[in-house]
Amino acid sequence: MSFTSKGFPMMLTFDLDCETMWTARDPDAHKRPILMSQGAYGWKRGVWRVMDVLKRHEITSTFFVPGQVVEAHPEVIEALLKDGHEIAHHSHTHRWIVTLTPEEEREEMELAQQAIIKATGEAPRGWRSPAAEVTDVTMDLIKEYGFSYSSNFFDDDAPYFLKVRGAPIDCVELPFRYINTDSPYFQFAKILPGRTITSPPQVVDTWSWEFDTLYAEDRMMVTAMHPEFIGQPSGAIVLDRFIQHIRKHDNVWIDRCDRISADMAAQMKADA
Ligand SMILES: [Zn+2]
Repeated sequence: MSFTSKGFPMMLTFDLDCETMWTARDPDAHKRPILMSQGAYGWKRGVWRVMDVLKRHEITSTFFVPGQVVEAHPEVIEALLKDGHEIAHHSHTHRWIVTLTPEEEREEMELAQQAIIKATGEAPRGWRSPAAEVTDVTMDLIKEYGFSYSSNFFDDDAPYFLKVRGAPIDCVELPFRYINTDSPYFQFAKILPGRTITSPPQVVDTWSWEFDTLYAEDRMMVTAMHPEFIGQPSGAIVLDRFIQHIRKHDNVWIDRCDRISADMAAQMKADA
């Protein structure tokens, strides 16, 4: 039985980190304009190409955007909303959560929350951590802010209600795994030793194999991509071909995380 009333859940999600991808690692990164320009590709070029691919396939999706990026690029947020995409919470500065004090964690949560409300007119429904870490404080904040879904953990191919300090809350976890993200294949920089760039067709194959297995098992799939990488010319072809592969299958629901997670929550409550 499917986890939703509309078929196999497929969520193509995007983290629009832009320059925060680098300033989160090193606060002095803004003094390195060429490094910063790798992030700028996201809002200047990548996100527009991603929007083109999604529009061609008539897909609405979720974009996790740091508050600083929301504030710096209102034209991007406006265009995403116009195409029917969802803006979700991805911290304010993208600083790595394990380096923050509890006060800083709260500030990260609140500043981005306000930036998104100001830009979109509504509170974000979902939250994704920068750099894949949480603390007990983070979990308390997810509960306090009333997010209806989170997409953070790597422990399953099925949705479940998130637990905070041992007790389940009304927030659907949408787990994913590194193999279904684009950064391990395409994030290359002089300051990240040991990284190489994967041949784009290999990524289409990898994600298609993941999809085929999950589809056959009637699980779910979440991909997490960055317009800085997947919005490059060959990346857009990866995205396009992966969507073409998905579309060869019946009974697949490709949509925004807020819509799919709401349907999942209703199903899980009905089954309980
Ligand atoms: Zn990110």
